[in-house]
Amino acid sequence: MTSLYVHVPFCPTICPYCAFHAVRRTKGAVEAFLDKLAADARALAPRLGPLETLYYGGGTPSYLREAELVRLLNLGLPLAENAEVTLEANPGTLNKKRLALLKELGVNRLSIGVQSFEDPVLKTLGRAHRAKGALRAVETALAFGFRVSIDLILGLPGQDVGADLEAAASLGVGHVSAYTLIPEPGTPLAQEITPDPDREAEAFAAAREILGRAGLVRYEVSNFARPNEEARHNLVYWRMGFWAALGPAAASHEPAEAPGLYAKRRTNPPLFRWLGGEAPREEAITPLEHVREALMMGLRVREGVDLAALEGRSGLTFKEKLQEAARPYLEAGWLEQTGDRLAPTEAGLDRVHSLVLSLWEALS
Ligand code: SF4
Repeated sequence: MTSLYVHVPFCPTICPYCAFHAVRRTKGAVEAFLDKLAADARALAPRLGPLETLYYGGGTPSYLREAELVRLLNLGLPLAENAEVTLEANPGTLNKKRLALLKELGVNRLSIGVQSFEDPVLKTLGRAHRAKGALRAVETALAFGFRVSIDLILGLPGQDVGADLEAAASLGVGHVSAYTLIPEPGTPLAQEITPDPDREAEAFAAAREILGRAGLVRYEVSNFARPNEEARHNLVYWRMGFWAALGPAAASHEPAEAPGLYAKRRTNPPLFRWLGGEAPREEAITPLEHVREALMMGLRVREGVDLAALEGRSGLTFKEKLQEAARPYLEAGWLEQTGDRLAPTEAGLDRVHSLVLSLWEALS
């Protein structure tokens, strides 16, 4: 495996819509986390090739103190030349000193959780930073030479989506992840925000136009990039490649050892059970499940899925059935076919859920 995800679960505060495994730091927890992470990394290292992509997600990895970051970013793992090393960061944690340290420790890409450039929206979201701080963090990160991706949440009540997108477009970042917020049921924000499909569709149309004008092309349902600025690590997920994972609640997708299976997914337990030594949950992925997952993930991306290659690696035959099932969507302009590759058009990206369900039916 040449891709690794490392989950760092600590955050300064817990946002009222959070759907991730995130906790506030408690005495000794970060140290215990780093000790176990180092031990797990040593055990994993012989199974890794030189890493092409390494992604520190969370949580808020940039929230760790400097000495802790030094340990986090020195796990002794083999890195390929030109590896993409991404770290998720909150604007409030990115001062010049911290950015210089991250650079020195080998991080070359930052995924910054801006969410909005409007203070009232940030307040609704319960975020600790303000618009001015977000702008300063992004500009400084760019000045330090990092590749920068920013996260934006679109379609919130009272949000001036156009203004947020214009701000993002004018910053000169190479990558924007734009999401609509679906608060986790049971989180405090779930009572305040009701999803509104019309408002969300309008927000995405605006994103396509405003980010597109700035050269950021929608290459995945929620992601926009300038050429060669696509998230290489996330492309491994969308292509259903293999990746390893370290840290609490992290999930890997690894080659299967048992005959007749395609892959296995190993999901670590949450922090305190992980620290206590609880084993990961293992799930076997059959060749057919792999095909279903590869369609579900691959049709999120403009490059689409190479059906012949998928047949080859799964050992199953389905290409003709899928091409037949795809015909109405090719005619409707939701899909396009080049050789054996089936890819969503811009219109198809907005309907990926129903496209996937229809193609799945053809497999059964
Ligand atoms: S910063 Fe992200 S991971 Fe942390 S609490 Fe907020 S939404 Fe969750």
